[in-house]
Amino acid sequence: MSIVAIVGRPNVGKSTLFNRLIGERKAIIHDSSGTTRDRHYGKTDWNGVEFSVIDTGGYVNNSDDIFEEEICKQVKLALEEADAIIMVVDHHTGPIDLDYEITNLLRRTKKPVFLVVNKVDSSRDMLYTAEFYALGLGDLYPISAVNGSGTGDLLDKVVEVLPVAEAIPEDEDGIPKYTIIGRPNVGKSSFLNALVEEERNIVTPLAGTTRDTIKTRYNKYGQDFFLIDTAGLRKRSKEKEDIEFYSTMRSVRAIENSDVCFLVLDATRGIEAQDVAIFNLIQKNHKGVVILVNKWDLVEKDTHSVKFVTDAIHERIAPFVDVPIVFISALTKQRVYKALEEAKHVYENRLRKIPTRRLNDVMLPEIEAFGPPTYKGKMINIKFVQQLPTHAPTFAFYANHPQYIKEQYKRYVENKMRTHFDFTGVPIQIFFREK
Ligand code: GDP
Ligand code: GDP
Repeated sequence: MSIVAIVGRPNVGKSTLFNRLIGERKAIIHDSSGTTRDRHYGKTDWNGVEFSVIDTGGYVNNSDDIFEEEICKQVKLALEEADAIIMVVDHHTGPIDLDYEITNLLRRTKKPVFLVVNKVDSSRDMLYTAEFYALGLGDLYPISAVNGSGTGDLLDKVVEVLPVAEAIPEDEDGIPKYTIIGRPNVGKSSFLNALVEEERNIVTPLAGTTRDTIKTRYNKYGQDFFLIDTAGLRKRSKEKEDIEFYSTMRSVRAIENSDVCFLVLDATRGIEAQDVAIFNLIQKNHKGVVILVNKWDLVEKDTHSVKFVTDAIHERIAPFVDVPIVFISALTKQRVYKALEEAKHVYENRLRKIPTRRLNDVMLPEIEAFGPPTYKGKMINIKFVQQLPTHAPTFAFYANHPQYIKEQYKRYVENKMRTHFDFTGVPIQIFFREK
C-alpha cells in the first residue's frame, strides 16, 4: 500500500489536513475495535484507492533550537519512504524562508510532490495564491483544510500517481506470510535464525516486494509459509531508528505485506511505548498478531512470572487482549515451534468466514439479552448480522438507528463474537449500519 506524507513547517495546517483526509467519516462508521487513535498515521481511500497518510509534523520535537534542522530531517526521511508528498504552505503568511528551505529539498526528488496552499477559505482568497509559484514546485493546489474545499481535486491527483498495488502471484496465494517485527535488539534476527537456520529447507528465495525486505518461502515443521525478513530495517542507522515517524513508516511497509506479525518483545525490558505503537499499527492494518516474549531464558522465574508479564501486556494493549502470547528463547530455541503454530492458528482465524445463518442464530440472542441502551427515548433494534466479504474479518450489524450505538456497546458485541467464535490474534471490525 502506498504512503502519502504530509510535510511543511508548523502551523500551516498539516494536522488539520491530516484529520480531514483520515476523516471523522471513519470514526463515525466505527473504526476497528478500540484502537487508540494515532493522531499522525492513518489509512484512507479515495476513488477506491486505499493509502496510508502520515503527518510528519506530528512527530517533530518542538523545542526551539533544533527545530528547523529537525523539520528538514523529517522531510528527507519522508522523501525516502513515501510514494507521494504533500507539501503544505500557508496562504495567510505567503511563502517564508523555511518554506523555501523545505522546497529546496523537495525539488531534488523524482517522487510526486503536491504543493498545497492551505487556508484558501474563499474564492476571493484564490486570487492571491500565485506568489507560491516562486517556490518552484509547479502546480498549486489551493485548499481549505478547515472547510474541505479543494481537497477532492487534490486527492484526485494524488491517487492518480500512486503505484498500483501488486497483485498476489498465484503461487503465493493461500500461503501464509509472516513478518517478524519489533524494536531493535529484541531478538528478531535470532528468532528468524532459530526458526529457519537450515538452508536446505528454503524452497524459493524471492526478492521482496519492497526494498529491504526479503520474502523467503519455507517448508518446515509441516508448514508451508513465507517469512518476510525485515533485515534491511535493521541495517539502517541508529539515528534513523530513533525517529518515530520513520520507524512507523518502515514498520507499516513490513506489516502491510504480511498476514500475521510476530511482535517480538524483550522479556528483560517488558512492554514499552514503542512496542505498543507497533501493536497498534498491526491492529490498524487488520493483520493477525502473535506476541513473542523473547529472552525468556534471562528471566528469573517463579510460578507467577507468566501471569505477571501477561497482565502487564494486557494492560497496555487493551481492549484487544485476545492475542496469543508465547514465552520464547531464540537462544535456546525454547517454544519457537509453538510460536509458529500460533501464527498458523491466527492465520486461519483471520480467514474465518461465519455463515450468516449461524452468525444470526448466535448473536441475535446475545443482543436480545443485552440490547443497546435507548438514546433520547429511541429504542435501538439490531435485526440482522452479516460478515462482509473482506480480507480481514468484518461484520455489519443492521440497526434502525446505528448512529446512536456507542463504543461501549460495540465492545460488548465484539466480546460476544470472540466468546462464540475463534478470532484469537485477529482484529475484527464491527460496523453498525442502517437497515
Ligand atoms: P500544523 O502545525 O501544520 O499541523 O497546523 P494545524 O493543523 O495545527 O493548524 C494551525 C492553525 O491553522 C490552526 O489554528 C488551524 O485551525 C488553522 N487552519 C488549518 N487549516 C486552516 C484552513 O484551511 N483555513 C483557516 N482559516 N485556518 C486553518
Ligand atoms: P534484533 O535487532 O531484534 O534482530 O535482535 P538480535 O537478534 O540481533 O538480538 C539482539 C541481542 O539479543 C543479541 O546479542 C542476541 O544474542 C540476544 N538475544 C536474542 N535472543 C535472545 C534470547 O532468547 N536469549 C538471550 N539470552 N539473548 C538473546
